[in-house]
Amino acid sequence: KFPPINGDFYDTRSHLTDEEKVILANVRKFMLEEIEPIATEYWLKGEFPFQIIDKMKKLNIIGLTYDKSYGGQGHSNLLEGMIGEEIARVDVSTCTFFGVHSGLALNSIYICGSEEQKREFIPPMIRMEKIGAFGLTEPDVGSAASMGLKTTCKREGDTWTINGEKKWIGNATFADYIIIWAKDVDDHMVKGFIVDRTTNGLTTEKIEDKMSLRIVQNALIKLENVKVKEERRLQNANTFKDTAKVLKMTRAGVAWQAVGCARGAYEHTLQYTMDRRQFDRPIAGFQMTQDLLAQMLSQLTAMQCLTTRLSQLHDLGVMSDEQASLAKVFCTVGCRTITSMSRELMGANGILISNKVARFLGDAEALYSYEGTKQINSLVLGRAITGLSAFV
Ligand code: FAD
Repeated sequence: KFPPINGDFYDTRSHLTDEEKVILANVRKFMLEEIEPIATEYWLKGEFPFQIIDKMKKLNIIGLTYDKSYGGQGHSNLLEGMIGEEIARVDVSTCTFFGVHSGLALNSIYICGSEEQKREFIPPMIRMEKIGAFGLTEPDVGSAASMGLKTTCKREGDTWTINGEKKWIGNATFADYIIIWAKDVDDHMVKGFIVDRTTNGLTTEKIEDKMSLRIVQNALIKLENVKVKEERRLQNANTFKDTAKVLKMTRAGVAWQAVGCARGAYEHTLQYTMDRRQFDRPIAGFQMTQDLLAQMLSQLTAMQCLTTRLSQLHDLGVMSDEQASLAKVFCTVGCRTITSMSRELMGANGILISNKVARFLGDAEALYSYEGTKQINSLVLGRAITGLSAFV
């Protein structure tokens, strides 16, 4: 049951091939049948519905853009972005689980791994037999990760020893592999490691009291003399600039998530305003309600056109860091505005988690802050505009 004007007003889907449209339709069906009925319950419980992993495997949507030799399908980044939108449109937590595994963790290996590492780790992760997490942020190091990670690594012979802490790491309580980023005490460069979650000295503690993305299992990780073999060090991650190549991809992904979150809130609210009656008529008939709906659809449409073009640039191989940062900021700011207007239009019912919009409103807050906050991504853009870095 969808409202009269759906949330793709400028028909951005028309850029997909017929085959891609079928894949997207399967994702929509999966989200409506498997996730929509349970999302509110699991969000309130703060638990992850592990039963969805087996069902998600059958969708075959991990590593879609990768080369076929690694088990990928060679599809467009545009399709991958729109899949993110479609998932987040129903539940942003599910999209974050998907994004951490297929974006942050897998891309770290795809972009920074050696040929051997790619062949060993990517296919089972694409099949979702192994799940990934990505550990960059620390309790005392968030926005400034590029300047000084406190987690250290030291090589002796063929073995590295890692010590430190990581915070906010999504999927970390159950992932098979956690990509750990650490600073080499000898050459002071940032290096990445594919670490088994069950390695001695690595412990995870779930962060419980979140008001956003409650289905995502974020953890504090402690690393005490964790031993990792050289063969598990990402062979092409030699400085933070290599880590940043992964973040560029995932910032584009978060922009799409924000589109999905805003779209879910808009579509749900539009239907609500048609159904809800006050003063003997649907509240959708009031001029001030229509003004808010028009603002929401305008903002959402601008966000969709921006992310569509961003992914087209990505597919052409020319997407820059700054273009990804601009989209991340524009879409997460817009998402916050749209979810807030949605709540307003639903009156008191808008604060009930069971009415969905409050869940989108809470989830929009994490999108706004992760993968580089609004300020940090604006500064990336500001540096490109002026040629002056505000970071140093
Ligand atoms: P801080 O860096 O402490 O920033 C606090 C405030 O100061 C912000 O408003 C910020 O914009 C501002 N600020 C900082 N520096 C400047 C500056 N130079 N100029 C202007 N303002 C500035 N990390 C991972 O590694 N892996 C994950 O899987 C992961 N998942 C996450 C999931 C969730 C739900 C959340 C909320 C976070 C997750 N993160 C993850 C961490 C996330 O990337 C960080 O929260 C983010 O980078 C910001 O860091 P911080 O929270 O420490 O904020």
